[in-house]
Amino acid sequence: MTARKAKRGGNSQKDNFNQNVPKKARSVLNKEFEKKIMCNDMLAKFVIDFLCIILFFSMDFLLLDNKKPLFCDIIKLQDKIKKQNRGVLYMLFSKNSLKHTATKSNTLNLHVVNKLEQVAQQVIHKKAVAKAVAKREAEPPVQQPTGEKLVDYSTTGKKRKWDLHKQNNLKLLELYKQAIKINPSVISPKRLQDLADCANQLEYLQDAEGNKKLYRTYFCRVRLCPMCQWRRSLKLFSQVSKITDYINQQNNNQVRYLFITLTQKNCCGSELVQEINKINKSFSLLVDKTKRVQPATKFKKMLLGYIKSTEVTYNPKTKTYHPHLHCIFAVQEEYFNKVNYINKNTWRAIWADLLKVDYLPQVNVQAIKPARQQKAVAELAKYPAKVSSILNLPQMQAVQVIIDLTTLCYKRRFVAFGGIFKKTKALLKLQDVEAENADLVGAGNIKEFNYVARAIYKYNVKFGCYISS
Ligand SMILES: [Zn+2]
Repeated sequence: MTARKAKRGGNSQKDNFNQNVPKKARSVLNKEFEKKIMCNDMLAKFVIDFLCIILFFSMDFLLLDNKKPLFCDIIKLQDKIKKQNRGVLYMLFSKNSLKHTATKSNTLNLHVVNKLEQVAQQVIHKKAVAKAVAKREAEPPVQQPTGEKLVDYSTTGKKRKWDLHKQNNLKLLELYKQAIKINPSVISPKRLQDLADCANQLEYLQDAEGNKKLYRTYFCRVRLCPMCQWRRSLKLFSQVSKITDYINQQNNNQVRYLFITLTQKNCCGSELVQEINKINKSFSLLVDKTKRVQPATKFKKMLLGYIKSTEVTYNPKTKTYHPHLHCIFAVQEEYFNKVNYINKNTWRAIWADLLKVDYLPQVNVQAIKPARQQKAVAELAKYPAKVSSILNLPQMQAVQVIIDLTTLCYKRRFVAFGGIFKKTKALLKLQDVEAENADLVGAGNIKEFNYVARAIYKYNVKFGCYISS
């Protein structure tokens, strides 16, 4: 309750009293009256504060497993409030009720919140300690180091090239160290350190037969890091498999897929950002059903969804970049009827029209046969590894490419989902592979893995491989 409301409530009593009491006495009594209202107001505030605290306590206890305890918010707010000298608990409920309240009331509130903070910190600390202890107890013991080289196979029996990716990661690190001499803002010292630390130590869970499952490691998530690009590509690959599996199940295998590469002429480094923007704009004309663009109308009728992956390759001979899009389109079965089918030459004409260019750009069109649909779609959705081919160029050339690509990556996503793909991705609650907090370890549910020990492998710079240590 605010002071204004309390005053409004007391107005009729005040009018009667004004008519019957002499002027002097009236002013004294008036002051007394105001004081009483203030007291009532403060009492009301105290009661509200008290109720709020009870509410917060009970909510935290009820939501004990909530990842972000309510107390955290209170603590953050408390700092803000202290600085602004404003009312306290009202802020938690409604931003509109933020007003200066009486000083006494403020002290009272801050005192209460201080207490609350103490308790909250204790609760948070206890929770963190309990969680850490529980985790440590659940972990199997670390195996004695054997000094052996790491050998890691995927579920399909493919050897995982950890050594190669770490070697490339270190090559990129060297290039960045040179790049900051030219352009200091290209990467921050912290991010450079992150890059150096990327996947230096791999922790595996091991079962009785010696099968391994990656359990814990640090990935830097620097956009151009070859190690992280590889991990993202694996994640994207598995996501697309899940999505297409689901779509096929739901639609009784009636959805068909096209794999199309849309290209344009090469450009130089300074034009790269502008050209990528142009290519993306043209793509949106092709797929956005709210935009009416004549050459794309026929295709849009058949289109159910898309996955778009942007790739930029570099031509060291001409020193130019080749930005292009790899797209997977989900289309209705009727796309393959004579009336709706679009042949390769028509595709080139459509794309030229959307790009607004006077030449016929290269377009690669592939229909994916239903029999090997999911596998092919997932294979094609691999995240484009842009960097590895650049790392072995002459140093100065490579450094310039790294600077150009880093500028291009700034606040930009390279993979986009639309239509049925986007909806299914949301439905299956799949993470954004390019997000800062994306899980690139992908340990999944480790309880399903019958582990008996933990094995630790560290990258050895001298030997260029991971060794059990
Ligand atoms: Zn990395």
